Amino acid sequence: MFKINDNYLKLPGSYLFSTIAKKVAAFKEANPDKDVISLGIGDVTQPLAPAVIDALHKAVDEMSRAETFHGYAPDLGYEFLRSAIVEDDYKARGVEIALDEVFVSDGAKSDSGNIVDIFSQDNVIAVTDPVYPVYVDSNAMSGKTGDYLKDKECWSNVVYMPCTAENDFVPALPERTPDIIYICCPNNPTGTTLNKDQLQKWVDYANEKKAVIIYDAAYEAYISEADVPHSIYECDNAKTCAIEMRSFSKNAGFTGTRLGFTVIPKELKSGDVSLNSLWARRHGTKFNGAPYIIQRAGEAVYSEAGKAQTKEQIAYYMNNAKVIREGLQGMGYTVFGGINAPYIWLQTPDGMKSWDFFDNLLEKANVVGTPGSGFGPSGEGYFRLTAFGSAENTKKALERIKNL
Ligand code: PLP
Repeated sequence: MFKINDNYLKLPGSYLFSTIAKKVAAFKEANPDKDVISLGIGDVTQPLAPAVIDALHKAVDEMSRAETFHGYAPDLGYEFLRSAIVEDDYKARGVEIALDEVFVSDGAKSDSGNIVDIFSQDNVIAVTDPVYPVYVDSNAMSGKTGDYLKDKECWSNVVYMPCTAENDFVPALPERTPDIIYICCPNNPTGTTLNKDQLQKWVDYANEKKAVIIYDAAYEAYISEADVPHSIYECDNAKTCAIEMRSFSKNAGFTGTRLGFTVIPKELKSGDVSLNSLWARRHGTKFNGAPYIIQRAGEAVYSEAGKAQTKEQIAYYMNNAKVIREGLQGMGYTVFGGINAPYIWLQTPDGMKSWDFFDNLLEKANVVGTPGSGFGPSGEGYFRLTAFGSAENTKKALERIKNL
């Protein structure tokens, strides 16, 4: 008789955004005349940049002729894309990454969820609280998190590092030593970030404890302040302790196009075993490459035109962030983020529960956001709004919140 992976049965409820989608669908069904604005899920709304569209068209045409047709992509991704990544994302910032340390994928969600494959069951993971849910859920699915404690809304074998207004959203080094540390910077959901000194402390700690940092830099393109590192490898000795994940979703609007990459330096080892070779083995076995046409589109993001056009898109979203941030501040809300990230993290008024604030906002302002508690217990009392809406909807949503 077949047996299921019963770790799945330990998972609480459904994925956060599925729960929100269900609530919103029920509201829309009951109120078909209402115009609901979503500043909830972090999905982009601006079309792909013209340089990316041109590259896609060209690549599609190539696929129509036998001489230029492409089948399976190389395991690690096409060299034209990996070279652009190595040059523009790393070398330009003074970081040397080798071509075979870059693994092209279909996005950072898959990579952050799949990376658990190469680590043993015995590892203790540490996550910031609140946290992007994929890190915890993927470890729970593979049996690394112990049991879910419903009353505490946390897992028995996970080190949680609270990030709240009290510590300026900078996680303190934990009392219990973890083996795998997840850091997302700029942060989803809080929109806050770590400066280079703060990140260097984590790198030093990980090297000292022989822990590995899984560094999610999906929002790197939104960094505006000079002392915020764009890559963890800007810190000294990070190559011996860190894996970095990047995505084209938010820097170039590829959420529906799907492209990302993971960097694993060859110096990163457990004993004699290099994690780079383990991930290469995993990638080669379980992944058959991101599509050629999408990798060409990714390459176009690094062209001069692509860089200028995506920079404009980011400026557009960051202007929304400013509108939300300053609008809410003007209404007396306490807000965080929105300077190096497209997320605004607000404190709910009068200690209101996050889900109550969600319901109130949906019912009275017809605006959808994300309850902070959905990202972890320390997210209770906070609420996330994204800057990924259209400028028009963002302004409209703020007007409605003002009239709450
Ligand atoms: N990492 C973080 C922190 C995210 O917020 C998201 C998406 O919202 C992802 C990864 C997913 O990226 P991708 O679209 O490349 O899978």
